[in-house]
Amino acid sequence: MPGVESLPPLRDVIESHGLWARKSLGQNFLTDTNLLDRIVRTPGDLTGQTVYEVGPGPGGLTRALLRAGVEKLVAVERDPRCLSLLADISAVCAQLHVVAGNALAIEEAAIFPRPAHIVANLPYNVGTALLTRWLTGAPWWASMTLMFQKEVAQRIVATPDSSAYGRLSVLTQARATARIAFDVPARAFVPPPKVTSAVVHFLPLPSVDFHLLRNLEIVTAAAFGQRRKMLRTALKQLTPEPEVWLEAVGIDPTQRAETVTVAQFQNLARLYK
Ligand code: SAM
Repeated sequence: MPGVESLPPLRDVIESHGLWARKSLGQNFLTDTNLLDRIVRTPGDLTGQTVYEVGPGPGGLTRALLRAGVEKLVAVERDPRCLSLLADISAVCAQLHVVAGNALAIEEAAIFPRPAHIVANLPYNVGTALLTRWLTGAPWWASMTLMFQKEVAQRIVATPDSSAYGRLSVLTQARATARIAFDVPARAFVPPPKVTSAVVHFLPLPSVDFHLLRNLEIVTAAAFGQRRKMLRTALKQLTPEPEVWLEAVGIDPTQRAETVTVAQFQNLARLYK
């Protein structure tokens, strides 16, 4: 097969197809090859690996992943306008399998019999929902390299006693190690969004108790749902006597959720039946 190098330049393809970005689909495209290759280098060497991309759009990141020598790339795209551009790529790269549809409805564990690396410039409107699902669902991914608005990236890696620390920080850090790999300025996108973005890299923790993780979702939803309130009030929706739980795990009932560590939240989740 001729390969990805045989394709016309991405900008020309976007222009010739008249592919203007749609805000409703969270579309901000990347065309800078150096930046796209940098994203693809973030998870390490992907040669021979299986990769999952959400929202390939016109295919800039897709092309970079194929250049990196992935063995299999599954890409799910919701916008029918992008499908003919993506078909042009799969016509020259058999490694690419395009799925037309909504990533929120995909059952990834059924598609990937061996762990896959997720690499995606996520649509902002569904990015957090997808991340929460991947963090709390079955362990089918080997790493995640994801673009978010910088403010969301900061919430993911935040530590207690900061305003960014919340449910997303706790769920992430109970399941993975996460770091901000680098920032991406708004001008790198077409069209430029209003905010700076950042690429976040996640590696799964070696052993995770998934039952506990589900309880953690419930406990953190209650605790951070009323983050200004003391925990003895916020947790009343889960137990008639929150003080008993809190004292059992060594948390002062007058503390607020944003002061509680991930390990303390896990101890609380163990008490939830
Ligand atoms: N990967 C391309 C790039 O980096 O230039 C496009 C990224 S753009 C931020 C997000 C892409 O996700 C768009 O192509 C959009 O159509 C697609 N998208 C939006 N919602 C989606 C969903 N629920 N499922 C699958 N794709 C979706």
